[in-house]
Amino acid sequence: MTRLANFCAGPASMPTAVLERAQAEMLDWQGLGASVMEISHRSADYIELAQKAEANLRKLMNISDDYAVLFLQGGAALQFSSIPLNLLNGGTADYLNTGAWSQKAYKEAKRYETLGLGKVNLVAEGDGSDVPAFDTWQLTDGASYFHYCPNETIHGVQIFDTPKVNAPIVADFSSCILSEPINVNDFSMIYAGAQKNIGPAGLTLVIVRKELLEQASPWCPNVMNYKNQFENDSMLNTPSTYAWYLSGLVFEWLLEQGGVEAIAKINRAKAQALYDAIDASDFYTNKVNPAYRSIMNVPFQLADSNLDKLFLEESKQAGLLNLKGHRVVGGMRASIYNAITLEQVQALVSFMAEFERKHG
Ligand SMILES: *Cc1c(COP(=O)(O)O)cnc(C)c1O
Repeated sequence: MTRLANFCAGPASMPTAVLERAQAEMLDWQGLGASVMEISHRSADYIELAQKAEANLRKLMNISDDYAVLFLQGGAALQFSSIPLNLLNGGTADYLNTGAWSQKAYKEAKRYETLGLGKVNLVAEGDGSDVPAFDTWQLTDGASYFHYCPNETIHGVQIFDTPKVNAPIVADFSSCILSEPINVNDFSMIYAGAQKNIGPAGLTLVIVRKELLEQASPWCPNVMNYKNQFENDSMLNTPSTYAWYLSGLVFEWLLEQGGVEAIAKINRAKAQALYDAIDASDFYTNKVNPAYRSIMNVPFQLADSNLDKLFLEESKQAGLLNLKGHRVVGGMRASIYNAITLEQVQALVSFMAEFERKHG
């Protein structure tokens, strides 16, 4: 059995130690004689698991009691609807567009204008390689919330400093949650699909200020209603039990690594190694403004796009998987989430140099 370096953007690589533990526990979890996915989410054993996962996430991110932590389903994309349904409340929401995902969030929210839920305003629009200058943003006074995506997974554009806006901030952290320390108190809501930087697909984390739980639209479906889910410990209906379990194992793994501060150092080193290699070469380019280059998703282009196919073939042979860029950007993309090691990134850098030497 070999596990190769998997740079997939999502669902993405998970720590081998976590998968080994899940494998060892697969048939008989905690001596119950059944796997964790075969028992009731209402059982005492499962509830203990669920609470432990939440407690560890709170520890990792330093989340205070002012926040509810929800373990939901439907992916980040369902949150594009849940957010206006829970938080718009007849007001105006401001959306910053810096790439594919923030644009999708904006478009989905915009549909709720026609339902009379409130107004949805586009603050500014980036070109996919830069973030519009703050003094061009058309912010609404007294907005219900301000939405943005700190890390655009497809474009590789990351906003490292929390925008200084007056409205409650709602942020799509799908591809950068737990990659670096953040101050949760700067945000009113943080959400993330698990399949990028946490665990398997099927689980969506929502971290929301409890004071915002009172303003959902009457049209909001029960399972999408944050207050309902909070009051029912995210078990209004059957949750994604196995994904919740695996995410809990990833939280434990992360704590063993020394937490978010420790993993952030490795993440910085990984990104630096890759961008340095790209910048040192005329054969590879990354078009993103260096101030906003993502430390999680690194798109890069080859000088001759006719070589793309060969690059993908040879990298695969070298044990470096899933480097094809998203079709809207083209070229390559290396997603280097927490589970990717510095050694794996160094192997990619060596392969890139060798490929350039042979074909450049
Ligand atoms: C992957 C991704 C999404 C979509 O997630 P789903 O779980 O497929 O709905 C949304 N936002 C960002 C930033 C992403 O990376």
